[in-house]
Amino acid sequence: MVGAAVLDLDIELEKRFQNLWHLVGNTPMLKLQYTYNGNAGEIYVKCEHYNLTGSVKDRMALYILHQAYKNGNINPCDTIIEATSGNTGIAFAAIGKALGHDVKIIMPNWLSKERIDIIRSMGAEVLLISKEQGGFLGSIKLSEELAAQGGVFLPQQFENNHNAEAHEMTTGPEIWKQLANIGLKPDAFVAGVGTGGTVMGTGKYLKAMNPQIKIHPLEPAESPTLTTGYKVGSHRIQGISDEFIPAIVKLDQMDHVVQANDGDAIIMAQKLSRQLGLAVGISSGANVIGAIKLKEQLGKDAVVVTLLCDSNKKYLSTDLVKEEIIKEGYLSTDTDFTGYQPISRLNEFIIP
Ligand code: PMP
Repeated sequence: MVGAAVLDLDIELEKRFQNLWHLVGNTPMLKLQYTYNGNAGEIYVKCEHYNLTGSVKDRMALYILHQAYKNGNINPCDTIIEATSGNTGIAFAAIGKALGHDVKIIMPNWLSKERIDIIRSMGAEVLLISKEQGGFLGSIKLSEELAAQGGVFLPQQFENNHNAEAHEMTTGPEIWKQLANIGLKPDAFVAGVGTGGTVMGTGKYLKAMNPQIKIHPLEPAESPTLTTGYKVGSHRIQGISDEFIPAIVKLDQMDHVVQANDGDAIIMAQKLSRQLGLAVGISSGANVIGAIKLKEQLGKDAVVVTLLCDSNKKYLSTDLVKEEIIKEGYLSTDTDFTGYQPISRLNEFIIP
């Protein structure tokens, strides 16, 4: 009887994960057409705002929890506690609740109000940490202190290898297969670094498939933590460049760091929204800047891929919806979007 009950639970749980994987990943890809300095070009973008909670972070949250259950590292009654700059909190709140967990999210108090409200709307608890209380690093420290009391599952997205593996198992193969379906191979991939899970995991898969591919991490020009090695300056591209280089990030396994100014990223995201109705967040604008920069370096036939990480909905109280001052050297001012062509989603779901 006990055996049967356990088996029932396992099947039920696995079914819940299967159901969730139908709402996470397998995102649309677009061939995004633009002119830069009057010259026509195109880049390929994965629409990560199509995920369950509207961001790229759903992939790693679902994968980390799936692996934790498979490995027996989480109990059904554990509280999931994570320190996060926002999208991760939203992803763990939704997926944690779908799996029946209590969820507690610890985040710096200067992030957008929409993020906090969305997390609370799913019944998760939010603890806000001020700069004086240690900001982002203080949030991580508090999560570890709470975990020491027991009954807690800590995903630890900054050091958990399952974070990058989520992208190695899903984002990378999707990009490869979607492009292969139209007879193309990627020459370069660029992604803004928060935890670095996206660029490291996707990069690992794509590099295994095409060793010549260039994999570029991206950072804000105002806060070049990857280049300097320590926290420097401040910037407005929420979700990337926190206050340190995460353990997942291995700069020696990637090509050069690409930079985007935060004001440039804002204007680029506004243009995607105004010219094509692709209403995306600031880090998506930064990624598109990175991809256009790489196209300029690699030539017009290069297949350059990046991600639209989330939609603009969480940034309605930020500079994203204000008039941004144009500065010397911005790419966005010389860029116009002329259209896009959809690249079909995969017929078969990749369920890792
Ligand atoms: N953009 C946004 C909006 C994000 O929330 C994140 C994750 N913090 C990223 C980009 C970067 O993703 P990753 O953590 O995989 O480096």
